[in-house]
Amino acid sequence: MSRTGYSRVLLKVSGEALAGDQSYGIEPKILNEVARQIVDLSRRGLQVAIVIGGGNIVRGMSIAAEGGDRVIGDHMGMLGTVINSVALGDAIRRAGGRSHVFSSVSMPSICDTFTQRGAIAALEGGATVICAGGTGNPFFTTDTAAALKAIELKCDVMLKGTKVDGVYSADPAKDPSAERFDAISHEDALARDLRVMDTAAFALARDNGLPIIVYALSDKEGLVGVIEGRTPSTRVG
Ligand code: UDP
Repeated sequence: MSRTGYSRVLLKVSGEALAGDQSYGIEPKILNEVARQIVDLSRRGLQVAIVIGGGNIVRGMSIAAEGGDRVIGDHMGMLGTVINSVALGDAIRRAGGRSHVFSSVSMPSICDTFTQRGAIAALEGGATVICAGGTGNPFFTTDTAAALKAIELKCDVMLKGTKVDGVYSADPAKDPSAERFDAISHEDALARDLRVMDTAAFALARDNGLPIIVYALSDKEGLVGVIEGRTPSTRVG
């Protein structure tokens, strides 16, 4: 166990975050900064698993909104997460770390197919594990994939970086009296209708006792500051 009290964490990185100021694709500076923070975290003795979204490339719902088939759109979305995952795996290696990409959608010439035992063995061997392809099924999000993989890989906590530094009593962008919670139970978050993640993702986390730490992606202290409790965040559960 590292001195943070956590041994194994799962980090959810949204695809949108990788796009930076662009509306599409991967901004290399952001990719390298995310990779640097992840390598920093593993150097502190933590085992790190990652799930990346694909919103910077394509979302199934947008395809469906334009008259396309939702399932095909979701397949495209899952492929987008694979693009982001192999890019992050490479950036982690360039930043001096070790990474191993697994995908829930089989594509053996690009990365290994996800299995719980393969991913746990890679984590125990000191590699950062990147889980691509979401859950492998349409009609889900990568938040749900993140909760699922965190539970399957026996992670102590899921870290979710957002635009704001935690969970607030109301939208802080609209309501100046909104207050940030330092900690809140899954049940209270649900009772107060605080949208931490989508319903399926949150239900999985609550039913399996998975804590979630919500923090600001823009925080200067980065992931290490969050995990060591030096920067503002909210712990749910
Ligand atoms: N997706 C899917 N099944 C999953 C995860 C993702 O079909 O288990 C598709 C879905 O179309 C989604 C897209 O992949 O819109 C990208 O994922 P997400 O929207 O969660 O990315 P993020 O918002 O985190 O960038």
